[in-house]
Amino acid sequence: MLIILVGLPSVGKSTFARRLSKELYLRGVDNLVIGSDVIRECFPVWKSEYEGYIRDATYYLIDSALKEFSVIVDDTNYYNSRRRDLINIARRREKDYIIIYLRAPLEVVLQRNIERGEKVPNELILEMYRKFDEPGKKYAWDRPDIVVDTHREMDFEKIVDTILNKGSKKFKTGKKRDPKKEVWDRVDKVTREVVGEYIRRGVVKGENIKVILKLRREFLKELKSRGLKGLEEIRSDFKRFLEERLNKK
Ligand code: ADP
Ligand code: MG
Repeated sequence: MLIILVGLPSVGKSTFARRLSKELYLRGVDNLVIGSDVIRECFPVWKSEYEGYIRDATYYLIDSALKEFSVIVDDTNYYNSRRRDLINIARRREKDYIIIYLRAPLEVVLQRNIERGEKVPNELILEMYRKFDEPGKKYAWDRPDIVVDTHREMDFEKIVDTILNKGSKKFKTGKKRDPKKEVWDRVDKVTREVVGEYIRRGVVKGENIKVILKLRREFLKELKSRGLKGLEEIRSDFKRFLEERLNKK
């Protein structure tokens, strides 16, 4: 799942992201927080012409992490074009996404920014505040799933519940994603890998290649009738199955 945070500088995104990350982990979701500051801070100074690279590198990090983990995007995501890019990254990976809009009264944001040492000048925040495309205002696809007032008490249990429910709802109504089929696809791949390995190592050659392919189909049939185990177990079961039958010949 891709969790897209939206909010002005100093509204409390990074603080929220770290807490959310831990709460999600405790609920069994492997996740990490990625934001463009990670790349931005690799430069000794800031220049506007670095921003193109910073954006692309951040997208790359998010995209590759999404293959394995849930990702919390800790950025202002101030422009709706950014939000759209991020949603497209999630869609391409067939992952659910959720938009969380963090807000607080302007004076709270400016006060926090001063306390933090005004890394971003207050005038800039003021300017951003004026021009800010509130998510969901202009387009419906952009509507936040959760709005968090960071100057109030935050109910993380409720936030996490909403995230997990939303994810599973989208999952159910989403595009044809059949978890059973996904598992079988992986079983198919594992057994093909074993066959490939035997052929490459010359354990089977010539006529026996046909035999091993037939044995693979038999093994899959047998597996279907007795149900699935973990993939690594299946890999070693399949090897044992092959050894027994290939050695008999
Ligand atoms: P952002 O990542 O949006 O720029 P941070 O999370 O870094 O914002 O927070 C900015 C400042 O505000 C930090 O000094 C932080 O300690 C403080 N802060 C963040 N969230 C809260 C909160 N919920 N209540 C009070 N102070 C907060
Ligand atoms: Mg931050």
